Amino acid sequence: MRRIVLRSETDWDGWRQATRALVQAGAEPGTLTWAVSGDASPLPDAAGTFQVPRALMALASIAIQAREPERFGLLYSLVWRIGAGEKVLKDDTDPDLALVRRMALAVRADAHRMRTGLRYLPVAEDGGVRYLGWFEPAHFVLPANARLLARRYPKLRLSIVTPDGSAHWDGASLLFGDGLRHAADDEALQAWWDAHRDMVLDHASADVSVPEAEALDEAPRSPDRPAIGPVVLNEGADPDLRQAAREAGSCRRCPLYGPATQTVFGEGPAGARAMFVGEQPGDQEDTIGRPFVGPAGQLMDQAMEEAGIDRRMVYVTNAVKHFKFVARGRRRIHQTPEVPEIQACGFWLDVERTRIRPILTVAMGASAARAVLGRAVTIGRERGRPIRMADGRTVFVTVHPSYILRLPDRAAKDREYAALVGDLRLVRDLMDAG
Ligand code: SF4
Repeated sequence: MRRIVLRSETDWDGWRQATRALVQAGAEPGTLTWAVSGDASPLPDAAGTFQVPRALMALASIAIQAREPERFGLLYSLVWRIGAGEKVLKDDTDPDLALVRRMALAVRADAHRMRTGLRYLPVAEDGGVRYLGWFEPAHFVLPANARLLARRYPKLRLSIVTPDGSAHWDGASLLFGDGLRHAADDEALQAWWDAHRDMVLDHASADVSVPEAEALDEAPRSPDRPAIGPVVLNEGADPDLRQAAREAGSCRRCPLYGPATQTVFGEGPAGARAMFVGEQPGDQEDTIGRPFVGPAGQLMDQAMEEAGIDRRMVYVTNAVKHFKFVARGRRRIHQTPEVPEIQACGFWLDVERTRIRPILTVAMGASAARAVLGRAVTIGRERGRPIRMADGRTVFVTVHPSYILRLPDRAAKDREYAALVGDLRLVRDLMDAG
């Protein structure tokens, strides 16, 4: 019996190299055992070439991430039979092919579950923020999934920790290191990270064979998927608001919950004097589960800082709590929410306003202004001045930072950014006077 040893549970390159050599050497599947540790038998020299259908390799690149130990041999067997002239892929009744397809389906579902189920804990790091998440996958989906997320969020620092290992993306390199068997809660994860961060990153390696990642992105979404974990709220958040955030996680008041990853509730301290309302979460907010962390949020942070507003002291939220988008290839393009969607989600905005009781509500952009004022608003006409409401509240309208990001030329961006900072200085004065 020949013993083939791969370097890891997802050693795609190693499995392909061994399979190519063994099929060409005529090694029958029954003469091989596959493992990821221990002593290995030498591989035969590969000679000649043979064709394997692209569809089978795509399927194998997914199925190799399954946790079933027999997958390496099963996949080898399919390639061996194709090399022997069998039309395996054309036979839907073939039990081996059916098993591999079931494995691939389970892997895709698990990868999808990881991408939608991950909750990230923001941790301060080198003047920036790293988003730290813990997840227990059913299969070995971390490496390929981490590669997908790194491609999707090139500017974020992410660490995903699982019992099998961890993946770390810093905007330039993707490294893999040790994992954590169990994280009872955010505090346990943070404590582990604080104690092990340097050691994990020092020993992490980029030298990991990662299976094809693209096909993982094809997982179908179920509109009936269960609600997922708790939302991270700032320390000091109102406990009733925490409860509301949990309940909003399974909201079905409008159709927007279907395609989105998760509900993105507001966050901020209890007793915040001002509440900033945007339109809806964007692509990054949808993935991370926190409002205003993407490019528009970063611009807002910068403008707030220039205007002398401490973001940690205000409550930030959106008129609509789910990301509305259309998919174009791998990109998700923002769509403006319709009035009925803004009205449906007004339920949660009212909950937030009732609990926070801000002296000032800042509506950023037309959708937020409609949600806050309950009518259509022309931003150019109503921005930059306090609007006293019949119930005693004060509302202030300004532009949404994404409007500035969309402007085509530098001069217009600079002009509008300065106007936003000017508006926020007025907001700061109103907060101080209130
Ligand atoms: S957008 Fe708002 S109302 Fe619609 S499902 Fe999401 S949380 Fe509920």
